[in-house]
Formats: sequence, structure tokens, C-alpha cells
Amino acid sequence: MTIETTVLGYPRIGPDRELKRAVEAYWAGGVTAAELERTGADLRRSVWTGLRDAGLGQIPSNTFSLYDQMLDTTVLVDAAPPRFRHLDGLDAYFAMARGAEGVPALEMTKWVDTNYHYLVPELSPDTRFRLADAARAKPLAEYLEARELGIETRPVLIGPVSYLLLAKAAPAAPEGFRPLDLLDGLVEVYAELLERLAGAGCAWVQLDEPALAADRTEEELAALRRAYDRLCALSSRPDLLAATYFGEIGAALRELAATSVEAIGLDFVAGPGNLAGLAAIGGLPRRTVVAGVVDGRNVWRADLSAALSTCASLLGLAQDVAVGTSCSLMHVPLDLDAETGLEPDVRARLAFARQKVDEVVLLGRALREGHDVIAEEAAAARAAREAPGRTDHRVRARLDMLGDGQGDVRPDRAARYAAQSRVLGLPPLATTTIGSFPQTGDVRRARADVRAGRIGADAYEQIMRDEIDRVIDLQEGLGLDVLVHGEPERNDMVQYFAEQLDGYAATEHGWVQSYGTRCVRPPILHGDVSRPEPMTVRWTTYAQSRTRRPVKGMLTGPVTMLAWSFVRDDQPLADTARQVALALREEVRDLEAAGIGIIQVDEPALRELLPPRRADRPAYLRWAVGAFRLATSGAAATTQIHTHMCYSEFGEVIGAIGDLDADVTSVEAARSHMELVGDLRAAGYAAGIGPGVYDIHSPRVPSVEEMEVSLRRALQAVAPGRLWVNPDCGLKTRAYPETEASLRNMVAAARRVRESL
Ligand code: GLN
Ligand code: ZN
Repeated sequence: MTIETTVLGYPRIGPDRELKRAVEAYWAGGVTAAELERTGADLRRSVWTGLRDAGLGQIPSNTFSLYDQMLDTTVLVDAAPPRFRHLDGLDAYFAMARGAEGVPALEMTKWVDTNYHYLVPELSPDTRFRLADAARAKPLAEYLEARELGIETRPVLIGPVSYLLLAKAAPAAPEGFRPLDLLDGLVEVYAELLERLAGAGCAWVQLDEPALAADRTEEELAALRRAYDRLCALSSRPDLLAATYFGEIGAALRELAATSVEAIGLDFVAGPGNLAGLAAIGGLPRRTVVAGVVDGRNVWRADLSAALSTCASLLGLAQDVAVGTSCSLMHVPLDLDAETGLEPDVRARLAFARQKVDEVVLLGRALREGHDVIAEEAAAARAAREAPGRTDHRVRARLDMLGDGQGDVRPDRAARYAAQSRVLGLPPLATTTIGSFPQTGDVRRARADVRAGRIGADAYEQIMRDEIDRVIDLQEGLGLDVLVHGEPERNDMVQYFAEQLDGYAATEHGWVQSYGTRCVRPPILHGDVSRPEPMTVRWTTYAQSRTRRPVKGMLTGPVTMLAWSFVRDDQPLADTARQVALALREEVRDLEAAGIGIIQVDEPALRELLPPRRADRPAYLRWAVGAFRLATSGAAATTQIHTHMCYSEFGEVIGAIGDLDADVTSVEAARSHMELVGDLRAAGYAAGIGPGVYDIHSPRVPSVEEMEVSLRRALQAVAPGRLWVNPDCGLKTRAYPETEASLRNMVAAARRVRESL
């Protein structure tokens, strides 16, 4: 059976986030396990029947998950760490996802370079893989469930090599142990599963190997070869589709081609070079290439003619060419038809998951019947793409004027430090917070009410001002040195700005799973970006009018604005970043003119957009740093520019942090015991540092003593005048009682250390 058209995966959260609601209700005790299971079955059925009705050639299954597909795999191969072993079933599953009484959850991290987060398997030499509950293994159960409905599917599994490469060694594992050491044992479990699937009549299985989009060593490539040789050698098994995505797979292609897998999936959107790679190995004469030509990561309608010609050029390089998506469609919203508020010219350029399936089906027909099949669609898409209205000549002219440089160059760091010390007069170990304060129900309700028209603009303004008053009073009472307005007006740090910038659109139902039950609605950056009017000035200046202490302005940086949005694909990211930076530059200027002397530009996503391949990183860091500097370099020497980042692995970007040329950088460090301060120093970082002294991800109130110890440790690497004292990140997800207690202790710790200087 050949594949003609397929998708590598599909959104599982439901049109109205039914999955989130059901899982959260289950946690709260409102629905039973059986009811939760019923919701899951309904969601699966609607996906399968929808794909069938759209005419898709081959339909994936096992793309559903109650929380995360990596976690499902951990359960499938019975690899729960020992601390969860006293639990079973859904209790164990959700304990691994979110922790339970006295048992911390598995670590969560980003799925390659997407904004989806998976639960990291924790493995050790003692891990013994086993096909848990073999007769009811999830991929088998879902395959049979679909077949009951008369739908033949291709179960999707995380490939064994990526499972291990994306896992981590358990804390107790001996030095030198690597999860990949466990490959042979894991492959035997996959072998058993494949045999069982074949026994049930399953004709195809998809093995996802996203880890191949990153640099891989010779040893890892050899492991890949060994694993697939072993699986291919099974006497009874389904045909195998090794699906790769998120970029070019380089040398891994040769290894996969040397095995007998029946099909290889290649991403021609994020990895256009895969075409040359395929030609270089002489193609795949006896195999199928699943051509990932419809973008699974972005929301634009496909350029059907270009996609068709990619597929056509593959015809000479493989026995069969199937049309597919570049990766799972779980990274885009479900259905454009649900959107009613989008401007027609923006909407005409979009395709969400459902529409992308139609594109795949249409391309599949065109590949067999000729270009005529797509002529009309392709022309409509081209007309939409080329419609005027995306270009803003003023923005382009201003950026041209600023040239390739990064705007003005600020005076050197030492001069700025002296100027700012004089103007701001802050003590050593100045205390501050990262921006947001707890978002109470009242604040959220007021935002929802003004949106829905239930309260007027004046009433809303007053509620926000009252909230700012409360937050300012609280901070003064606690004795913080640099205050914030608390961000009550922000639903989300990207969406808030996107809503006020021209060139951005928001969706009503465009939810995408970020992790487990958390879904986000990334805004769509569709045209040249500009700022019609100031975005934050009125809140910040209002806060400043209520206190004599400095209030810090709060902006989201250009890289983060792109990372958490869908961005245009018709120009380099670097150009888009410069446009956002220009808008922020104007905001910085307006804040400054309104008397705000400290401005923080958050870049928590700087690390996130780092390309999976090392060779691509310098170019990325160059434009990312350039955009930040463009946003901030218009500030006077006396204006103190802060930035904030939160992720624990800084390694690759540590040099770039210095290149941002901020005056103060606050970073997540509580969980790494301040090590970062020394690392930054060693990398030549010479400006102010605010290593987070406590972890805001937990409600625990840190003691004065432990924060004092952290600060003294930091002082070994940095002078007191350059050390800042702040939590790890914003306080928005915390409640007030623990926030007040923690900040009180934090200020006390700073004072104690200050007094002993
Ligand atoms: N200023 C933002 C806040 O405090 C920063 C959030 C973040 O780093 N993710 O919420
Ligand atoms: Zn943060």
C-alpha cells in the first residue's frame, strides 16, 4: 500500500480546548477517569473522521495524548523513574506531568526549537525497558479504536533514537552515563510493539526522529543505523516511515537510506537543503519520500506551485513521492473557519490545520493529474500574498536611515555606570522585581469585562489605577528600591504589545498546545510593524506619579515578540525583528521623555530561537543582538536599560548576553545556585547582574538565610554596586501571601549583606 498524501500529526486539543477542560476537571475531581477517557475518544474520532472526510490518503493515529507524547512513550516502555513507582495508571501519569505529594514532576523542556514543551525522560543504567501492558499498549489500542470506526491508520511513535537523545540522565546516574547507552534494550521493546501491531493488521507505522535536525556525532549516527537495521530485520512488521522534521538532517539521511525503511519523511520547509542532500546520495530509488512541503509550523497558505514543483523534482529521486506536512500540524491552530474577526486581506493569506490538510490533498491530486488541479487555488493564494497593504514605506525608510548598524552606539559602559549611579543614587545590592505582580481574579475579570463591553474604558482605567496604587504601596512597604507597576493590564507579555502594534493580528480561537493543559494563542505578525501610539507610557507614568522611588518601565524585546508569534515568511526574520525593534525604540524614547529613568526590555526567548544546528547560530545571534540594541541604543547614558532572561541553560548564549549591552541583566539562577554569575563574569560580562535569588515557580517562601547565602556567593564574582537582588521571574502566577512573605525575606537578606559590606 503506497502513501499518496498524509500529515505527520494533528492538533489534539479540540476546537474549543475540550482536552484542557476535561483534564483540568479530572484533576479537580469534577469528572471521572471514565468520563475523561470518553472525551479523549470523542476527540480522536473527530480527528480521524475529519481527516478521512477531507480525503487524506493516510491518516495518523496515536497523535492524541492526555498530556504529552514523550510522557506517553515513557509510560509505554515502562520507564517511569523510581519515585513514581508507588503510583499507577492516571495517578502515575499525571504525577510525572505535574508532580504529586512529595514527588517532583519530570523536567519539562522545549521540543527542539518549537514552543511546545515535553516531559523529559529521566533514565539511568537501572532503567529496564519493557512493553508495559502489552495487549493494551496505547498505539495498538488507538489503532484498533480507529479500525472499529472503519478507519485504517498509521500509528505514530516517537522514534527510539530521538526518545533517548531527548532524554536526560537521572540525577543519581553515574558520571559518564548517557541515555543512548540504553538503545539496544529500548529497540527490543519497539520490536515487540511492531510485531504486535503487524499482528493486528497494521500496515504502516511512523517513527518520529526530530533529534536528527540537530548536529549528531558519528556515534549517534551509528546508533541510528543499528536501531533501524534491527527493526527492519523483523520478519513480521508494518512498513516503516522514518519521519524527520524541523530542519535538514544532513548525514543522518545517508544512514537512514542505508537501512530498509520503506519511507523517509523530509522537511522541505525548515530544511530546503534536504533536496540537495537527497540528490547527493543518489536519491532513494526503492523508497517513498514523504515530502514535507506544507508548513506545519506556520499559518500561511502554501505556495502551491512551489510546493508542487518541489514534489515534482523529487519524482526523479525516489520510487514514490507522497505529499505531506513538514511536521505535525499540532503547532498550528485547528481551523480558520472558526475565526470571524480577522481582516479579509489577512484572512485570505492564512491556512490553519484543517486548511492545510486540504492543501495536502489538493497537491496529491496535482502530482498525479497535473498542475491544472491547483491552478485556481494557486492563483488565489498568490493574489492574496501579493495584495498591497503589507508594506509600510515610512517604517522601511526609517530603518534604511538607521542603516545596517544598530542605531546609535551608547556611551561606554563605565561612563553609563557613573552617570546612572549619580542620577539614580541606588544602594549596593539594589532590590527589585521582574515586572508582574500576582494577577488577582478582580484584575482578570476587569480585563475580560472591558473586552466584552461590560464595563467602559473609564471604569477599567480606574480599576487598573487602583491596582497599581496597591502594588506601589506594597512595594514601598516592603522597602524595595526599584519599583514596577505590576503589569495588571497585560494578559500576556507578547499579546499585549501585538494588540497595539500595526502589522499584527489576534485570533479568537487560534489555540495551540504549549504543554499539557496550557494552550496559547500566538498573535499573527502579517505585515510591516509600526507603533501608532505609546503602549505602556500611561501605566508607567501613573505608577511613577505615586512614588518617589524609581519605577522601572517594562517592555517585551524583539526576539521574544517573534518567538511567541506566528511570523511572516516572506522576508528574513532579521528584517521583521528590526521593525519590531524600531517600534520598541520609539517606546523607549517616549518613556524616557516622560521621566522614566529605568527601562527593562525582556528577552526570555533569546535562547529559545537558537537554531538546532551550531553552524546557524552565529548568524542568529548577530541579528537577535542587533535587534535588541536597535530597540535600546537610543536611550541616554543616564537611562538604565535592564533586560531579563529565564531559562537555565545559558551556555550557548552567554557571550550574546554581554553583547546586548544592557546596563543590568536579571536571569534565572535560583535553581543553579548562582553559578551563572561566575559563568557570566568568566565570559567577560561586566555590567550589572540580578541573578534570581528565589524560584517563583513554586509557592515555597525562601528563608532570609538561604537568600543571604546566595547573595554572598554571587558577591564572590561581582562587585556590590553591580549586584542586583530580585526573584527569578515575574510574579504573575503566584498568590499574594507567599509573594509578600518572599519579597520581605528577600529585602531583609539584601539589607543584611549590605550592612556587612
Ligand atoms: N516582565 C515579565 C513578567 O514579570 C517577564 C516574564 C518572563 O520573563 N517570562 O511577567
Ligand atoms: Zn522570566
